[in-house]
Amino acid sequence: MSQSAASATPVTLDAERARRIREVFDAQRAVALRLRESTVPQRLAKLARLHEAIVRRRALIIEALQGDLGRPALETELAELLPLLGDLAQHRAHLARWLRPRRVRPTVATLGTRAWIQREPRGRTLIQSPWNYPIVLTLGPLIPAVACGNTAIIKTSELAVHSSRVLAQIVREAFDEDEVALFEGDASVGRALLELPFDHIFFTGSPAVGRIVMSAAAQHLASVTLELGGKSPVIVDASADIAQAVDTIAWAKCLNAGQTCIAPDHLYVHTAVYEQVLERFRQRLSAWYGADAVHSPDFARIINERHARRLADLLTDARSRGALLLHGGAVEPERHFVSPTLLGEIPAEAHIMHEEIFGPLLPIIRYEHDEEVIERINAAPKPLALYVWSRNRASVHRILQRTSAGGSCINQVAMQFLQHRLPFGGVNHSGIGSYHGEWGIRAFSHERAVLDAKLQFAGALRPPYGPRARRLAAALMRWSQ
Ligand code: NAD
Repeated sequence: MSQSAASATPVTLDAERARRIREVFDAQRAVALRLRESTVPQRLAKLARLHEAIVRRRALIIEALQGDLGRPALETELAELLPLLGDLAQHRAHLARWLRPRRVRPTVATLGTRAWIQREPRGRTLIQSPWNYPIVLTLGPLIPAVACGNTAIIKTSELAVHSSRVLAQIVREAFDEDEVALFEGDASVGRALLELPFDHIFFTGSPAVGRIVMSAAAQHLASVTLELGGKSPVIVDASADIAQAVDTIAWAKCLNAGQTCIAPDHLYVHTAVYEQVLERFRQRLSAWYGADAVHSPDFARIINERHARRLADLLTDARSRGALLLHGGAVEPERHFVSPTLLGEIPAEAHIMHEEIFGPLLPIIRYEHDEEVIERINAAPKPLALYVWSRNRASVHRILQRTSAGGSCINQVAMQFLQHRLPFGGVNHSGIGSYHGEWGIRAFSHERAVLDAKLQFAGALRPPYGPRARRLAAALMRWSQ
């Protein structure tokens, strides 16, 4: 597949597509009701079909990502297939336990009853995904959606054309469309879907579109999971293992050419180690990608020319305001290329300090005291990730306690995504809700409270409220405290 084919005109909404969307949505209603009664083995059998359809297309998936993003095969295996297959394995091992009703003990006021929490499917769900990791960010949420017994309509991104085609094949092979259907298309298709009264909307994308999704959901009071983006900072203090810190940060920033929601957006480096950090960065980037990264087979491309120009504008704006170019700086928008680039001495008003970068440009900011960094982080919207590199546990603890972020790693970057026993999600501006492992089951099911009355004591509390009822009420009040 070629880069040029990837720029095929995106599918927009026409009358026929609008009719098909409605038809599928209506057909999923009866199926959603039927799926309420589906058993764990039946759901696992569906996940097994999905697993097979993915594994069979391993080579096609790698090829699609090369077509969409010029991405090296190894990065697709590590960042898309590994987490996806890992999450499927978790579901295989734990789904029965996750869906088992959970008993709770009676309170004083409910003595004589039994109670439990029963996870039930939400019903008809919508999954909208972005282009940067199109496979894992589409099928990742589909796993818990199916595991919980929901139907799903998927809308992939119009920018990852090759991946969308492979995803459509996978979904068609593994599911009937009245259970899981996929619509390719641009924002007009997304808007049409958002008008439908889904029970739950799972959206991964930008905070700007996240707002649109949330207000559309409000019209039907649909529940939402919003997996959004933002500016994720990294702090490297004077005690950090500099070689490890820089190697990991540089790799995570260059993975998929920086188009990763949990990539380091910008870096705070303690003055004492600033020069050392810079030197190591330059050395690593040159060793990995050569003098001109455009020739490197290990460095991905920007998704399209528009995004490459957006990054070029961020760079020009920062430099015109006095930022120093410390490494790289090559941009060829027509070839969708932006080189790994380091910037220093960036004025606070530069656009690059306010907009999510989503590319291989790394602003490096010197600092003297933790306080300055904590203040700057708290002055900005809450990030999806915050990373700290330090050997000083007290300082790490203080930073974690005094800031807020969707997730954090200590002396590591981006690995939280692979730990499926942790919830993955943002907070406020970077997202609402989470998924992965059991957290995905929470997102795609309603936790129904059930109380089963065995003994009936409440008869004594019926009107007329005589002395007996008053004594019983008083006793309940006393025992409950
Ligand atoms: P986007 O918000 O532009 O698009 C996401 C999806 O929404 C696409 O399918 C798109 O077609 C659709 N869409 C766009 N406009 C719409 C509208 N007006 N109405 C309905 N649907 C609409 O995001 P993107 O550019 O595809 O992805 C990049 C963003 O996603 C970044 O902000 C990144 O941080 C974030 N992201 C977050 C995560 C996460 O897990 N939290 C993962 C990847 C990317």
